[in-house]
Amino acid sequence: MDNKEEGLYPVIAIDGPSASGKGTLARRLAEHFGFAWLDTGLLYRAVGLAVLRAGKDPSDAAAAQAAAEALDPVAVTKGVDREALRSDEASMAASKVAAIPAVRAALLKFQRDFCLTPPEGKKGAVLDGRDIGTVVAPDATVKLFITAGAETRAARRFKELQERGQDATYAAVLADMQARDARDAERALAPTKPARDAVIVDTTSLDADQAFEACVGIASKALATGA
Ligand code: C5P
Repeated sequence: MDNKEEGLYPVIAIDGPSASGKGTLARRLAEHFGFAWLDTGLLYRAVGLAVLRAGKDPSDAAAAQAAAEALDPVAVTKGVDREALRSDEASMAASKVAAIPAVRAALLKFQRDFCLTPPEGKKGAVLDGRDIGTVVAPDATVKLFITAGAETRAARRFKELQERGQDATYAAVLADMQARDARDAERALAPTKPARDAVIVDTTSLDADQAFEACVGIASKALATGA
């Protein structure tokens, strides 16, 4: 079978602001359906980190474009620099390089190819990010937009950092998250927003299992009718 034929495999597109829980949901949905998972934020984080390591400013369009074009996305998905990519520094740098059109263009093909030919012979793909349903996979079988109130998301992130033994205050976590979300939502190209046909899942009053069950229900229905 030619698995490069467009739209052959189902795609679950998951978007939403930071700390909405979309990463965990994407991983669990991929496991549940046996699909490949791509955390697209890692690609932007890797570009941001590369610019910082080159001693440049992440808002420098030429430096960011060069870093994006030199990126080895497969290495990123295989776990290279995983700890450093999770840092606050990498988050902030990611949201700066992500506003640069040439950076987004350089990362697009890898993400689309992942949908067309999921790795390891998987028969479907789950991608999470900010523009999956709107730009990367506008024909995705299922589109979910995961959100939660800013205070709830900041509290979740703060708890996570405390559990990892990292120094942080709730106020600083909230302020950083709001700055990053504002930049992501207000940029001209591919801002964080639900696709018109996305299902919005507000997890403010749901725990991780409840959010997962809700998403499995929505995705199962769409996969059954869209396959
Ligand atoms: O999802 P994560 O928090 O790891 O993403 C880091 C940053 O990468 C986001 O704040 C956003 O600026 C950018 N990003 C993006 N488009 C995506 C995924 C991430 O612009 N599809």
